[in-house]
Amino acid sequence: MSDGTRFDGVGVIRTKRDGGALTPDQIRALMRAYMSREFAEEQMSALLMAIFWRGMTSAETAEWTGAMIASGERADLSGLGRPSVDKHSTGGVGDKLSLIIVPLVAVFGAVVPQMSGRGLGHTGGTLDKLESIPGWRPDLDPAALLEMLDKVGGVITAAGDEMAPADRRLYALRDITATVESIPLIASSIMSKKVAEGTQSLLLDIKVGSGAFMTDIDQARLLGSTMIEIGQAHGVRTAAMLTAMDTPLGRAVGNAVEVAEALDVLGGGGPADIRDLSVAEAEAMLQLAGIDGDPAKALTDGRALDKFREMIRAQGGDPDQPLPASPLLGVVSAPRDGIVRRLDAYAVGMASWRLGAGRSRPGEAVSAAAGVICLAKPGEPVAKGQPIVELRGDDPGRLDAARAELAGAIDVGDEPAPASPLILQRIGL
Ligand code: URA
Repeated sequence: MSDGTRFDGVGVIRTKRDGGALTPDQIRALMRAYMSREFAEEQMSALLMAIFWRGMTSAETAEWTGAMIASGERADLSGLGRPSVDKHSTGGVGDKLSLIIVPLVAVFGAVVPQMSGRGLGHTGGTLDKLESIPGWRPDLDPAALLEMLDKVGGVITAAGDEMAPADRRLYALRDITATVESIPLIASSIMSKKVAEGTQSLLLDIKVGSGAFMTDIDQARLLGSTMIEIGQAHGVRTAAMLTAMDTPLGRAVGNAVEVAEALDVLGGGGPADIRDLSVAEAEAMLQLAGIDGDPAKALTDGRALDKFREMIRAQGGDPDQPLPASPLLGVVSAPRDGIVRRLDAYAVGMASWRLGAGRSRPGEAVSAAAGVICLAKPGEPVAKGQPIVELRGDDPGRLDAARAELAGAIDVGDEPAPASPLILQRIGL
């Protein structure tokens, strides 16, 4: 029980355990108490499990997000005098869209302040991909970040320690208490970082399918609407697209190989799915930012590629140096003549991870060269024995494990599988 001056942590846990709603004062106090270590890790663990089972109302989720933001600093980009807009993807296999979209939207004068993360598990991280460019560095101090936003417009950088530090501790705790998979906790975790980075508007790309965090479209829809509500409560114009993630995006999955493919798209070529989705997302971001522009044209006339090169140079990278070579270790071939019906995104992501493109523990090094190239994708014809995927990397000892991930992941049949759209739903656009 509270003695009137101390924070009543047990009371808060009991309220949520019994299905009650926490008041704004309780939420703010508990987050402050957690950050000062008055509310102990074991108490927060119990509260997270209670939230996992009982959920949170929209008002509680918005307040919880606000308390996480208040645990650190919220950047102020208003001095730049230009509309700011960012996008967040929940993560997919071959999802190199940030590498294309950040420069593409910056071409039109928007400020695009993307704080990105590193990969863990089967989906890669944007920073890991960019680090395959010789010399490129992810870290910028707040002054350098503002200067780059002013001069270049687009930036992809690592989130600083000052952004929503409560999220870092809470995420680590959720990871070891089986409480990651809670919509209000996922939504508040993502949005606390996006609101803190200072963007005025935000597009969420919520991936749905075997290679995504969300495999169920109803759950993805709920996550999207929860994040939109949080954005609105914190003054960030937010919209969402639910997009398909049953097969890899594009043909390249890994680090350097994904940068190379992004460069193809930035130069006006590349695979149609990546190009179409990049254009659709860039159009949505410009709409949110209130800017007119034709992103498809900026891909073909060289402006997007020029902006990408400018971004890379501004962070120490040399866009003219060759990317690390990705030696061929092996292939998986078509078992028969026919049409590829399925190339499972999760399996390809896991194969790439096994080859060394991803990490199994935070802080582990990744291989720039490792990855998978999808030579044939669903809907494309193959002849018996023709390679469907190439396995690339610098460690032949990893090949068997990568091959094993792909067992059962590829179907070849007489007829193509029914085509499904890339964009499954738009919310708030
Ligand atoms: N990504 C995040 O940043 N937080 C989550 O809770 C899940 C995915």
